[in-house]
This record gives sequence, C-alpha cells and structure tokens, in this order.
Amino acid sequence: MSRPAKNRFAAIGLFGGTFDPVHHGHLRAALEAKELLGLDDFRLLPAGTPPHRPSPVAPAIHRLAMLRLAVAGHPGFSVDDREIRRAGLSYMVDTLREFRQESGEAPLMLLIGQDAANALDTWHEWRAIFELAHLVIMRRPESQESWSGELQQHVENRFVKRPARLREKAAGYVLPLEITQLAISSTDIRDRLSRGRSPGFLLPDRVLDYISQNRLYFAGAVGKG
Ligand code: ATP
Repeated sequence: MSRPAKNRFAAIGLFGGTFDPVHHGHLRAALEAKELLGLDDFRLLPAGTPPHRPSPVAPAIHRLAMLRLAVAGHPGFSVDDREIRRAGLSYMVDTLREFRQESGEAPLMLLIGQDAANALDTWHEWRAIFELAHLVIMRRPESQESWSGELQQHVENRFVKRPARLREKAAGYVLPLEITQLAISSTDIRDRLSRGRSPGFLLPDRVLDYISQNRLYFAGAVGKG
C-alpha cells in the first residue's frame, strides 16, 4: 500500500530563467521534471533583472509574452510574472518568500541546473532558500557536482533520492533528477537571428512568429525553415 500523503497542500514546481527567448530545451526539461515530480502545478518564472548575468536582450514584456505563447494549451503549466512586476534585482529568495506566504505548507520544488546548484552559495541569502523550498537539481549523466565548504554540508544533509520524499514536508530536501538537456540555448538562437539565420525547430513556431512580428533580436525578418 502506498504511503498516505503527509501534506494536504498541492505541490508547486518553480522553474526560473531569463527565457530570452524560451526554447525547446527549456520546455522539454520542464515537461520531464513536471512528470517525474508528479506535479499538476508547474510555474515558469521569467526573471526581471537577474543578479548573476547580463541584462536580458529582449524587454521583459516580450519574454513574458513568448513564454505564455509557448505553454498555452499545455495543462498544468503557467507563467508567473511576479519577478518582472517587482522592481529591482530578481532575487529568488524574495520570490520564494512570496510563494511561501501564498501557498501555506505546500511543498515548493525549485528546479535549477547542476551548474547553478554548484554556485548556489553566491545567491542572495542562499541559506534561506533551503527553508523555503526543496531544491531539484536537473542533471545529465556527465554533470559534475562541485559543492564546497558550507554549501556541501547543507546539500549532503538534505539529499534524497526519490521524488515522493518531497511530499513529506514543505521545504528543505535536495533531489537530483536526470533530465534530458537538448543542445539548445537562447544565446545560440539570438546569434542565429542576428546573422539572419533561422532558428526554426529549436523553439515553438508560435514563439518564432512572435519574434518575427516584433522584430526581436535581429535586423531582418526570418522565416521558420
Ligand atoms: P542563455 O543562452 O541566454 O544563457 P539559456 O538557454 O541557458 O539562456 P536560461 O533562460 O538562462 O536559458 O535558462 C533557464 C533555465 O533553463 C536554467 O535552469 C537552465 O539550466 C535551463 N536550461 C537552459 N537551457 C536548457 C536546455 N537546453 N535543456 C535543459 N535545461 C535548460
């Protein structure tokens, strides 16, 4: 018999990024994570002004619109615009505090790539993140873990192997999850567009149409194929 759920609040998956623009690498990873974690509520969170990288190329309003087009009609996915609406740098800890206030004791599952996880101790108030959410680390077979110092202790003490464990409490576990990472990046898509080349099939057609209509990232209009 399966173990009864200890947590009566519905779990929420959170997947942040600049999505400049969103592509099939993001979407495939999100779908696999959603399935493996058994989530009915999966939120994509476009960053307003990310603290760890250069400012996005496309204005937030367009990145948001592209993300909405990408997930339209896909049940269980939604786009959360709170980081874009909030003034100043988009600190994940602020976002998680807001979700925690709204979601009571719901397990919050924050998805991050292995590279980001290795540098978690450079994030604003990083220790608080473990109090607010579970960390789901998206890995591929060749992913290298390289925690150091206090971060290593935090992670090792919290490691779990099965997604079901994340239903036992609202926050605080670390789960590694093998996720397909397609060789697609927003940088490569922007680069192709700026050179007048098509990024067709790397991102949804609806998103590419939006890019063309709004003349984002490139000087001339580019078709899909
Ligand atoms: P850029 O090329 O502009 O740096 P990006 O393509 O890496 O962008 P981000 O918006 O920075 O995309 O990524 C958001 C999240 O999506 C991160 O957690 C990142 O690990 C993940 N991600 C990005 N590309 C892929 C991919 N091809 N497969 C799986 N996950 C991805």
